[in-house]
Amino acid sequence: MDLSTEELNIILQTVRTFMKKEVEPLAEKMEEEDEIPRSLLDKAAEMGLFGISIPQEYGGLGTGMVGKASIFQELGKGPNCFISVIGCHNGIGSVGIVMEGNEEQKERYLPKMASGEWIGAFALTEASAGSDASAIKTTAVRKGDKYILNGTKQFITNGDIAHVFTVMAVTDKSKGAKGITSFIVERDFPGFSIGKKEVKMGLRGSHTTELIFDNCEVPVENVLGEEGRGYVNALKILANGRAGLAARCLGSCEKLLEISLTYATQRVQFGKPIFENQIIQHYLANMAIEIEALRSLIYDVARKVDNGEKVIKEAAIVKAFGSEVYGRVADLAVQIHGGMGYMRECEVERYYRDARITRIYEGTSEIQRNIIARQLKKEYGL
Ligand SMILES: Cc1cc2nc3c(=O)[nH]c(=O)nc-3n(C[C@H](O)[C@H](O)[C@H](O)COP(=O)(O)OP(=O)(O)OC[C@H]3O[C@@H](n4cnc5c(N)ncnc54)[C@H](O)[C@@H]3O)c2cc1C
Repeated sequence: MDLSTEELNIILQTVRTFMKKEVEPLAEKMEEEDEIPRSLLDKAAEMGLFGISIPQEYGGLGTGMVGKASIFQELGKGPNCFISVIGCHNGIGSVGIVMEGNEEQKERYLPKMASGEWIGAFALTEASAGSDASAIKTTAVRKGDKYILNGTKQFITNGDIAHVFTVMAVTDKSKGAKGITSFIVERDFPGFSIGKKEVKMGLRGSHTTELIFDNCEVPVENVLGEEGRGYVNALKILANGRAGLAARCLGSCEKLLEISLTYATQRVQFGKPIFENQIIQHYLANMAIEIEALRSLIYDVARKVDNGEKVIKEAAIVKAFGSEVYGRVADLAVQIHGGMGYMRECEVERYYRDARITRIYEGTSEIQRNIIARQLKKEYGL
């Protein structure tokens, strides 16, 4: 059963208050310490925010994509590290189990993930395999009732705080992409460890780490879906997350517009607020135009997802557009703030750095365009 509109509105109001009163005041501290206080994640868990994508029968909110996008939009207004942790968990970190898990797997993992007791992560990328996911080298060899995994994953969001990992590994090298299988790996399985934590341009507080599989023992029952379907699963998981990622970008853009508009009406140069200059008004209007276009696109795609329509092209469009609008809006926000926009004490500087990753992870803008072009060719029967 999905969440009703009334229930969703109550959640949105609670999330809004929580972000304003509890998360935003800690933005600077999280940035400085590169850490989200556990107490904030615990409160998010109490509010059900770790169960956004998880069906109600397994203890989640079961929001559907429109609901998920609207919650992500609210979370995206705040410090992006927070939505990064929650978004990864509710997106690539758990939807694989929701979409492809069998009943035992769902019963074992989803209730604990919905409650926030077990945080989820997704491990595809390796040193030699980023955009080209079929080039992964991590191997999984079956020995009796276990698979033995060997290899190293890199750039894994939530790597150091997650308990449950959706991991892609090669089970049959001779079959290329069709020889990749997905596994559910728990952090205390023998042979699993966390490697180095990356020092990043932005998203401080959301950690990105290596995962090391050194003869890691994974029970056969932890194969996610069928053997050989790991590559397809990975693409499906990533495609599912795209409207959500764009919704996070939308929230951040709305926040940047609000901050920039306020600043423009207060900052006085040449004896008048800078807002009085037509070019500044046009910068703000351009932000608003892109924001409105993005909002319509996101909820159109989300409704299609909820109606069970195929949205491969639309999901790629919304991801590319959302992340690029965020980049342009953040750039204008810095420009409107002048020198102050370049200072650490000004929050637009943080959004500007945090925006940059959205054009890279979960499929770069170039890869989204490859997907769009491939779909166009199919649509036109060429
Ligand atoms: C902060 C952060 C968090 C991340 N979290 C996760 C995670 O949780 N799980 C996970 O598995 N991965 C994660 N990643 C990895 C991320 O998904 C990859 O970095 C991304 O897919 C790009 O891969 P790459 O870095 O190897 O770049 P490359 O694939 O090496 O690409 C380099 C450049 O070449 C372009 N390019 C490559 N191939 C083509 C092509 N065919 N056509 C046109 N252009 C092309 C790219 O678009 C890009 O501009 C994360 C990365 C970062 C930085």
